[in-house]
Amino acid sequence: VFDRPYVVSWNLTYRCNLACEHCYLDAGPAPKVQDEAFADRSELSTDQCFEVIEQIASFAPECLTILTGGEPLLRRDILPIVRRAHERGLWPGSARTA
Ligand code: SF4
Repeated sequence: VFDRPYVVSWNLTYRCNLACEHCYLDAGPAPKVQDEAFADRSELSTDQCFEVIEQIASFAPECLTILTGGEPLLRRDILPIVRRAHERGLWPGSARTA
């Protein structure tokens, strides 16, 4: 029994180099669904991501932190995000499109 999360999956971006029909995020170069629920496809800034990392580290220390999307490697700040997660004791991994 775990008293805290041991895996966190974090969708860092809606952007994706693919546009799969089955995508539950409707990820891709542009939204396929025109709906109010999909209106805000912005991303957190790097500093906001660092703050999320602090929050994850506080409630789920040493958890496996899966960085995904979309395609997480489309973020130019992916390496600083990975580095910060590692520095804060998390175990960053990624789920990518290829
Ligand atoms: S996030 Fe995954 S499922 Fe969605 S479009 Fe990209 S590769 Fe396809």
